[in-house]
Amino acid sequence: MVEECTGCLGCIDICKVGALDVETTKDGFIYPKIDKDKCVECGKCISVCSFKNPIKKVYPQDTYIAISSDVTNTINSTSGGIFWELANAIISNGGYVCGCVLDQELNPVHIISNKIEDIVSMQGSKYIQSDMSTIYPQINKICQEKKDILFTGTPCQCSAIKLHFPNYEHLYLVDIVCHGVPSSALWKKNLNELNITKSNGKMQFRIKGKYDRTRYAISINNKIIDYKKNGYYTLFMKERSFRKSCYQCQFAEDKRVGDITIGDCNTWRDYANFYPDKPISILLVNSFKGEALFNMIKDNIEYENLDFEKEKKCNRQLSVPSDIKKRLHDYELYDITFGEKKLSDYSEGYKLVDYFKYIIKRILPIKLRNNIQGILK
Ligand SMILES: Cc1cc2nc3c(=O)[nH]c(=O)nc-3n(C[C@H](O)[C@H](O)[C@H](O)COP(=O)(O)OP(=O)(O)OC[C@H]3O[C@@H](n4cnc5c(N)ncnc54)[C@H](O)[C@@H]3O)c2cc1C
Repeated sequence: MVEECTGCLGCIDICKVGALDVETTKDGFIYPKIDKDKCVECGKCISVCSFKNPIKKVYPQDTYIAISSDVTNTINSTSGGIFWELANAIISNGGYVCGCVLDQELNPVHIISNKIEDIVSMQGSKYIQSDMSTIYPQINKICQEKKDILFTGTPCQCSAIKLHFPNYEHLYLVDIVCHGVPSSALWKKNLNELNITKSNGKMQFRIKGKYDRTRYAISINNKIIDYKKNGYYTLFMKERSFRKSCYQCQFAEDKRVGDITIGDCNTWRDYANFYPDKPISILLVNSFKGEALFNMIKDNIEYENLDFEKEKKCNRQLSVPSDIKKRLHDYELYDITFGEKKLSDYSEGYKLVDYFKYIIKRILPIKLRNNIQGILK
């Protein structure tokens, strides 16, 4: 096990002698495991490994704040619904989209599709490491058909895809600003504690509504669980449960790996006339292909120039990775994930001030609150 391994599993796909398999380590994350008796030392696994082959990243050419013009489409999105617009454009041109969904057992997995109902499932951030193991052969097939494919995922996942399919001209990469991923094993423990086996609708990690621009809460089966009332989500917010590689992420910087980068706009207060009551996205155009993508959607979105230098100061993952000092020790993660320790003991809990905020939000409309906060700042 190597701590820099991001868990993309590209090495397992490329190994044609079956010398690599998956193992789950004590902290709950999956890693490739080598069978030295089968390995023929061809080096293919190394050639697709992101940390062995640092990929060229580029400084964005153009930087915007953005939101889909049809805000009803964005209700399932985390911020401005830019992913939705990009995915639609690609599908309308006969292409495919690869993104993260929660499967029937609520496991996070990357799938490939050209169907709109699957794009709806891909919408929205799932704060868990997603499984990419099945997509490599499928992308290969699409390459042979010479169809467009839009891959969306964390920057390390984009890097893995770029290394795997270096010369495919119809591949478009969209990386999301990311500050780290907890393991799907920890997520399973959370579901067990919550007594949830499946979802009877769309499950979300961020909720938009009339009281909140965006609320960090799990919405499932008509229940809303605030992040402070959930141990899994509290650990995520406090950056305590991420994969080890996330704390030394080579992609947490202003130079990007994707053709386009999307993220939450953290300096939204500076754009008082740009949808102040809605969460908006940052949209970074990083390459010629990114420019082509932007041109495909620009008539379907509202956008303005972004002060990128200022955004970088507020959106930390555009400069540095999460702080390793915050991470729980492996043995503690093991105890929570597989042992007796309860995740619920890690929830921050609601304090008096939180109840107060909750009531204020229900009394004062978002716009008025924004104005007051703007004056107080
Ligand atoms: C784990 C994680 C951490 C993030 N941290 C930050 C941050 O610190 N700062 C910031 O500005 N933005 C962060 N984001 C990105 C942000 O939440 C939104 O994804 C982004 O603003 C785009 O919003 P959207 O409305 O355009 O798209 P959305 O509809 O929200 O869709 C975004 C895309 O994200 C992909 N996706 C969802 N979950 C995962 C996953 N687990 N793994 C890989 N891909 C996934 C989907 O395939 C979809 O294509 C994070 C996202 C994730 C998944």
